[in-house]
Amino acid sequence: METILVLAHTETDGSLAKPALEAIGAAKQLGGAFVVGLVGENVQAAANSIASCGAVKFLGATGADFKQPRYATDAAAAEAVCKAAGAAIVIAPATSRWNRVLAGVAHRLGGRADTHVTAVTAANGAVAVNRWYYRQRMEAVLQRTQRPWVIALESGCCEAWKGSAGSAAVEAVAVTLSDACKRTTVTGIHAPAADQQTIRPDAAMLLVAGAGWTKTQPDGKAHIAEAEKHILDFLRLTKASLGSSKSLVDLSGEGQAVLPFMTHLHQIGQTGSTPRHPKGLSTCCHGEEPHTVGWRFVNERRAIDLDPNCGWARGKADVLYIADAFQVMAKVNELLAAKK
Ligand SMILES: Cc1cc2nc3c(=O)[nH]c(=O)nc-3n(C[C@H](O)[C@H](O)[C@H](O)COP(=O)(O)OP(=O)(O)OC[C@H]3O[C@@H](n4cnc5c(N)ncnc54)[C@H](O)[C@@H]3O)c2cc1C
Repeated sequence: METILVLAHTETDGSLAKPALEAIGAAKQLGGAFVVGLVGENVQAAANSIASCGAVKFLGATGADFKQPRYATDAAAAEAVCKAAGAAIVIAPATSRWNRVLAGVAHRLGGRADTHVTAVTAANGAVAVNRWYYRQRMEAVLQRTQRPWVIALESGCCEAWKGSAGSAAVEAVAVTLSDACKRTTVTGIHAPAADQQTIRPDAAMLLVAGAGWTKTQPDGKAHIAEAEKHILDFLRLTKASLGSSKSLVDLSGEGQAVLPFMTHLHQIGQTGSTPRHPKGLSTCCHGEEPHTVGWRFVNERRAIDLDPNCGWARGKADVLYIADAFQVMAKVNELLAAKK
């Protein structure tokens, strides 16, 4: 087996996030020896937390310059760690921090990078990766001869490594940084409060809201405030992740007074996202193909729609409730609240 490096960065608190542990899990199941390379202000605590993962060596590029994500310093650190490891294959978690630099690092090393990788396998010592194409409709298994091969592994695709902490000996990797590398400074982070963040990739369930929530209902009126309450109550009670059909987010984008917490980032489908959740519940969404293609990795699907001829009825859902979502969700939320 070739030399494999798991390249990870620490979080601001010095820990390793789940995607980093998934990259270790992916390297381990290849069966060969692997090295772990860490980048961060101080990586000792992170290395100790994975001391028993089976890595033959721990390398660390550390210092205050690597505390904040910044292209120039991150790329220099990643390059130095890859060189120090003599890595032929680099498995890195596809975090926003790494995604910015990995292609550049591969270029500097004279290698190649593959992004959005969903699996890494080895047969007879030859490493291959899986990757989806054409909006997740076709899956390809790829091998490359060019080395080093930098693989950005999507989160949520591999089992995260679990094991006991210990004490790891970290070999320091020197990184040469010019002043020009340090011109960019992160002055702050704007992020919604945790309870306002409704896109939750790790949630056990996806709740999709469709344009039906904003449509005129049998009493001749639209009930936006009620729709908002049902959706937000469900999210609060279940901690589900929120998705949307394109029609609903387009309405929001057109400045209509619709659901204010919906953005284009919530859109699921051909021109939206393809999240991975064990279960999904679609409400007031017709289930057309450009939307349901985004449900490819949702294992168990249920939908509530008034129309018995909607797309979900055509083999797109495991269970379809022909019912009024306002009534169903009010009852579901009542039952969920009673369980709390
Ligand atoms: C190139 C291309 C790319 C596209 N990409 C995407 C994409 O990425 N994502 C996406 O979503 N769409 C995409 N679309 C659009 C897609 O084809 C549909 O137009 C869109 O998904 C429809 O959204 P909807 O089902 O929410 O709205 P509608 O089609 O308006 O359906 C609303 C549904 O709500 C139901 N309803 C109304 N009231 C209630 C109630 N009280 N209880 C229960 N049900 C109720 C109705 O019966 C109806 O089925 C794309 C289209 C094209 C051409």
